[in-house]
Amino acid sequence: MQAPTSVLDLTYDQLVDLLGGWGEPRYRAKQVWEWLYRKFTTDPAQMTNLPKPLRERLGSEMRVDPLSEHYAQRSTDRQTYKWLYALPDGQAIETVLMLYDERRTVCISSQAGCAMGCTFCATGQGGLSRNLQSGEIASQVLAAARWLASPPPETGLVPSTLTNIVVMGMGEPLANYERVWQALRTITDAEGFNLGARHITLSTVGLVPGIRRMAEEPLQINLAVSLHAPNDELRSQLVPIDRRYPLAELMAAVRDYVARTHRRVTFEYALMNGINDTAALAREMAGLLRGLLCHVNLIPLNPVAGSPYQPSTPEQAATFQAILEQSGIPTTMRLRRGIDIDAGCGQLRQRITSVNA
Ligand code: SF4
Repeated sequence: MQAPTSVLDLTYDQLVDLLGGWGEPRYRAKQVWEWLYRKFTTDPAQMTNLPKPLRERLGSEMRVDPLSEHYAQRSTDRQTYKWLYALPDGQAIETVLMLYDERRTVCISSQAGCAMGCTFCATGQGGLSRNLQSGEIASQVLAAARWLASPPPETGLVPSTLTNIVVMGMGEPLANYERVWQALRTITDAEGFNLGARHITLSTVGLVPGIRRMAEEPLQINLAVSLHAPNDELRSQLVPIDRRYPLAELMAAVRDYVARTHRRVTFEYALMNGINDTAALAREMAGLLRGLLCHVNLIPLNPVAGSPYQPSTPEQAATFQAILEQSGIPTTMRLRRGIDIDAGCGQLRQRITSVNA
């Protein structure tokens, strides 16, 4: 395990051990967690029910907030907000908050960069810098919750609470399995952030061992799989990891996951003009998913600068959706929200919106 960079990297038991080593009673950990995960405090000096020497030691020996805001953007419809955060070592990650319908959904990153190399994704072209620590993952949630609890006056928003999390930002979460799940355990812990697991969705590009491992987890986190093509010939061009985990293996893992958890799986499909949006491919997709407890989210691709991939036309997208629905596959077409926000991760926004079905 990497050395913790933040008190948010610690599990509850690790925090108890740390504070115990400082001579503090066990209940201090509960107090600190309450400040971190219920009041979203980043400054130990504000933890007023702790003794002053403990506040000072926490402040001098442990980082509380590993995120420094680098820049923030909002879409012109004021429904999408995006932050670029700098991490302690200078890496940058994105977090996006979406305010649609009654939901307050944050899309968080799991890695700085990504090693998966999906050919239509800006992040994939840059490669992987490093895994995020669990505190760097959890703190994105806390930052969004803090912002919602006290939105800047110029937004005109009233205070609200975070309702959903999607792990769909930069990175492949199942390639950083331990830290992502540690963060999710803290976020769902009744003594921690206390968000129901069913309000959280993790999206993978198809890491089969991770899906199989996820099926064994007691936490009922939702699974989304980025499919993007119904056969290996095409999928391996768009999603290179398909060469390692071809569709037969991936679909077997998903079917086993559904059989074990009885939970519906979401398939994401970024529609690309002339690439993966033909009627024949829609029929092939329907055949692939027949009989599976699933839902398909279709998202016209958000084009990446310099990329040859373009979004499908509305007509082609509608035809694709109609074929799936006629085959009995529940399907949602999602608009590309926050389209005017400059994207550092080509997939970020489209994957986010796809889960709010
Ligand atoms: S689409 Fe997702 S998995 Fe693929 S390269 Fe981009 S961030 Fe990584």
